[in-house]
Amino acid sequence: MGEFDLIARYFKRPPRQAVLGVGDDCALLAPQAGMHLALSTDALVEGRHFLSTVSPERLGHKALAVSLSDLAACGAQPRAFMLSLALPRVDEVWLSGFAQGLWALADAHNCDLIGGDTTQGPLTISITVMGDVPAGQALLRSGAQAGDDIYVSGTLGDARVALDVFRGQLSVPEAVFEATRLRMELPTPRVALGVALRGVASAAADISDGLMGDLGHILTASQCGADLHAEWALPLLACGPALNLPPAQQLAFVLSGGDDYELVFTASPDRRDAVQVAARAGDTSVTRIGTVRAGEGIRILDAQGQALAQRFTSFDHFA
Ligand code: ADP
Ligand code: MG
Repeated sequence: MGEFDLIARYFKRPPRQAVLGVGDDCALLAPQAGMHLALSTDALVEGRHFLSTVSPERLGHKALAVSLSDLAACGAQPRAFMLSLALPRVDEVWLSGFAQGLWALADAHNCDLIGGDTTQGPLTISITVMGDVPAGQALLRSGAQAGDDIYVSGTLGDARVALDVFRGQLSVPEAVFEATRLRMELPTPRVALGVALRGVASAAADISDGLMGDLGHILTASQCGADLHAEWALPLLACGPALNLPPAQQLAFVLSGGDDYELVFTASPDRRDAVQVAARAGDTSVTRIGTVRAGEGIRILDAQGQALAQRFTSFDHFA
């Protein structure tokens, strides 16, 4: 099968929203008046961002999910995406599985695949997503203020538990492995939550590299520091009660785990009710885990309000 047959068979469908999709030299979108276009791009490299053990269906889902998560963090509504694939060879079993996982998530978000590029090379998946957000309403990293509450959506750290099991660094009961593996391989982008947080959150980011790093980006951009409460954060590790691990190690999964694709965001304390309304609209839990303060850095406080000495970091491809 040649390049163009491959594209036509797996990646070409009539767009639902775009003016022109796959098959021409350019795709065409009709921007809406009063909206800003939100754009984000991500590359996934085998061995770096996913393991060869992942099924093609789940990989197709995850490749799009990590990009939709960026739109969610900005409060943008997904509209369209482009897909660049480097494939070592034409493997139709792989392609049909990948396309199935990709289309299922794209359809769930009414997001059109409008173009891309296909080449031969080591397996790499690059996706550029486009979304829209009313002008001036995008959630940014730079809006947090001292005194704001800090929240995270969903659960944190479970994806990293599965990764550590794959790496042979941790052993857990089979049922825990299956549950955490789902979190690693099938993340849920919090698109509806992000949209519902427009006008409510003062700053937001998605958690791809771990809470410490991604909250750290908000704090750096906002020129603030933060206090997090260990006993509020600890229950976020969903598999925690089923693990035979000391609390400090469970906390490390929550704070430094990565690959969660939840949202971390800040909001003024007088928006607590509005945050819970947004959580219901987003069909997810949100948990308040701390407070933005003047200064810099993240302090982790114990139940007595004492700062923990233990250091928590986050994932860095070049560190
Ligand atoms: P060009 O020659 O301009 O680079 P291509 O021949 O690479 O265009 O691609 C032909 C059409 O197929 C274009 O509309 C392009 O956007 C689309 N396309 C190529 N690869 C993919 C892909 N993996 N997924 C979706 N669309 C793709
Ligand atoms: Mg091309």
